[in-house]
Parts: sequence; structure tokens; C-alpha cells
Amino acid sequence: MSKSATERLEAVEAEIAKACKIAKRERDDVSLVAVSKTHPAERIVPLLEAGQRIFGENRVQEAQGKWPELREQYPDVELHLVGQLQSNKAEDAVQLFDVIHSLDRASLVKALAKAFDKTGRKVPCFVQVDIGEEEQKGGCPIKDLPDLLAQAKEAGIPVAGLMCVPPFGIEPAPYFALLAKLADDHGLEGRSMGMSGDFPTAIMLGATHIRVGTALFGERGS
Ligand SMILES: *Cc1c(COP(=O)(O)O)cnc(C)c1O
Repeated sequence: MSKSATERLEAVEAEIAKACKIAKRERDDVSLVAVSKTHPAERIVPLLEAGQRIFGENRVQEAQGKWPELREQYPDVELHLVGQLQSNKAEDAVQLFDVIHSLDRASLVKALAKAFDKTGRKVPCFVQVDIGEEEQKGGCPIKDLPDLLAQAKEAGIPVAGLMCVPPFGIEPAPYFALLAKLADDHGLEGRSMGMSGDFPTAIMLGATHIRVGTALFGERGS
């Protein structure tokens, strides 16, 4: 028998609690973003029923298909965009999402500022940093971060913090530590880092938002 959503959530919560205790941090200092990408509403409802309220999706269109209806039943849901965002989808993203984790380039700063104007909404954004220098993952090169943050500030984008996805298959701790240092250097509170395989490490290194999919929903595409 595979585990139920409630059991998975309890197991993840227990690991969060343990990491917070070791790091002498409060549970409330860490937001658990349940990444529900690829999973249909039927898989999401059990987690909502278990009390989870913060969810993450990586595609605007997919989220538009699932969340408006779920939100009618669970109006206090907070929806986070954790995937790369095309400038031409900025307005749709701003309409649907409460937080964006993937601001990574000047053209997107412009598109988001325009979308804020048009919709009258202002959504907190994390600036995604290309922490392992892997272009295909998206993210702003570390050397361009000061300029991008200045442009975001100039355009009136509320920058919540920094986000990263470290390279796959190697020890992530040095990358989490680097992201935390960059956030410190720029006086930013938020650190969106840590996924199913490494969120306890991320919490110990100062994550404020962990993005957890597989540990809560099981493998994608199964
Ligand atoms: C899919 C995804 C996650 C969740 O990954 P898991 O390993 O399933 O926990 C986190 N962050 C981003 C940006 C993702 O695309």
C-alpha cells in the first residue's frame, strides 16, 4: 500500500520540525510550498483536506486549468509559481499567482511591472539565481544579480528574496549557503531553496520557503 497524502504530509512536517529544532528556528519561519505540478485536482484535494494551504505550480496554463475551481472550495489557498515564466504569460501569472519564484531577467521585470499596472495586483517575487552556472535551468547569473535587483526596485517590483535550484546529483549545501550569503549581502529576507531530496539541509542553511513535490505527492507521471 502506498502512503496516503496525510501520511506523507505528516512525514514531511516531522522532518521540517526536526530540521527547525536542530537549527534553532521556529516552524513558522519556514513555508512549505507543496509543488503539485503534473498532479490532477483529485491528488491535490487530499492535501487540502489535510490542511495544506500553500501550493506551487510550474506552468501558468496548467495552473489555470486546475486552481480556479479548487480555490472556490478553498479560498485561503496561496499559489506560488515555481517555474520559468515567459514574458507573454506575465499578466496571466499575476492574475493567478500570489508569489512568483522565477524572476530572472530584465525583460521579465518590464513585463511584470506592466502586468501589475494593468491588473492592479502586485505580487511578491523571488529573484531566481543561476547558482550552479547551468544556463538551461534559468536564473540570473550571479554577476548580473546586483543590476537585476536594482532594475526590479526601480520598476516597483516587491522582491521577497532569492530562489535557487542547485545542480542535480551533487551536495547542495554549498549552493544553499551561497544563496543565503547573496540574500544577506542584498538585505533580502526570503530564501526559496530546498526540494524533496534536500529540504532539511536547506532549512538548516536558512531556507524560508521550501518547494516540495515528490515527498508529498509521490513520483510524477505515476
Ligand atoms: C518540481 C519542482 C520542485 C519540486 O521538486 P521535488 O523534487 O518533486 O520535490 C521544486 N522546485 C522547482 C522549481 C520545481 O520545478
